[in-house]
Formats: sequence, structure tokens, C-alpha cells
Amino acid sequence: MNIVLLGPPGAGKGTQSARCLRKYQLTAIASGDLLREHMKQETALGKQAASYINEGQLAPPELVVGLVEEQFQAKKSSRGFLFDGFPRTIAQAALLEEKLLAHRKKLDGVIFLEVPEQEIKQRIKERARTSGRADDQHEAKVATRMQVYYHETLPLVKYYEEQGKLFRVNGVGDIETIFRRMVAVMGRLQSDLSTA
Ligand code: ATP
Ligand code: MG
Repeated sequence: MNIVLLGPPGAGKGTQSARCLRKYQLTAIASGDLLREHMKQETALGKQAASYINEGQLAPPELVVGLVEEQFQAKKSSRGFLFDGFPRTIAQAALLEEKLLAHRKKLDGVIFLEVPEQEIKQRIKERARTSGRADDQHEAKVATRMQVYYHETLPLVKYYEEQGKLFRVNGVGDIETIFRRMVAVMGRLQSDLSTA
């Protein structure tokens, strides 16, 4: 089972994906986490990406794609992947499709974690106190991330909807409630696979 988790910044993708990984024994490919790890280690790639990420912009595609490919290659025998934060653009989505196909895999579903903008802003404000993330710190940066999300990432909703792959999950509520909604979708995808 190969799944993409899609949603606005601060939607709780990381939180929900951690639970899904455990329950379904999937391999995570979380582009944001991979990038932050490079920033923490102060690698050349990390330094290059930081100036974009810290301002709330997307990291340059070649950096992200390289990281994702590397992980995918290293873990290609995995029984399934959960992509978190990737793809974030239509171009990245096309690339992902290509990569999966090259390994005779396919994308089984895309979970769109829906959270209204007001709630997103509130959550990021809260998180800013403890996350240490530069991109959480100022309202202007959060606004930039929202703009990038609307322009670059939201078109993926329609893109996957047209492929019949999109599943909407209400991302408002407590973590367990949202996780139960996720499991309902994942369960359906899994049973579709076993009967296919
Ligand atoms: P959430 O809180 O729901 O986990 P988020 O948007 O706050 O989501 P990440 O997904 O970790 O956090 O992304 C953080 C930043 O990393 C993005 O704003 C962007 O700069 C960069 N980034 C992550 N994934 C990509 C990608 N696929 N393409 C380009 N830049 C990316
Ligand atoms: Mg994240």
C-alpha cells in the first residue's frame, strides 16, 4: 500500500503519519523531516535549503527530489510507503508517479487532511513556542506558507480527485478522533487491494 498524505501546513500530517506507520508498517518518506535533518546536520544541502524553508518558501525541487529518491531507493523493498509532505507540486506528483511505476508500484490513495485556515494559524502559533522552527515563528512566514500551499499544493487535490484517488479526512478534532477517521480510509484502501 502506497499512500500520500496531503494537507496544509500545520495540518498534523506528521502526527497522524507516525500513527499510521506503526499500525500499517509502512515506510515513511517525509520530505520536511528529511530537509530539517539536513539543516540540523548543517550539510551543504541543508544550508542551501534553509534559506528557502526558513522563509516559508518551498525548497528547490532538485534538492527535495534528490532526497526523496535516495530514501525510496534505499528502502525500495518496503511493503509500502507513506509520503508525507511530498508531493507538494504537480511536477513533484508526476515525478512520484514515474518513480513508482519504474519499480512496478503504484499510488493507491491520497489522504487529504482538511483543516480550515483559521485553525491552522492558531495551531502554528501554538507550535511556534516549542518547535524551534524558524518557519513557524512569524505571521508573515506562515502567511507565505499558506500562499505557497494555495498556489502550488492545493491544485493536487483536483489532480488526484480526477484520478479517483483522493480521500478527504476531517483534520479537526482530537488526535485520536482524527486517527480513527484515517484508519477508516486506510482500511478501505487495504481491502480494495486485497480483493484486486
Ligand atoms: P505539518 O505540520 O502538517 O507536518 P508543515 O508544512 O508544517 O506540515 P513540513 O511538511 O515538514 O511541514 O514542511 C516544512 C517545509 O519544508 C516546507 O514549508 C518547505 O519549505 C519544505 N518542504 C517540505 N516538503 C517539500 C517539498 N516536497 N517540496 C519543496 N519543499 C518542501
Ligand atoms: Mg511535517
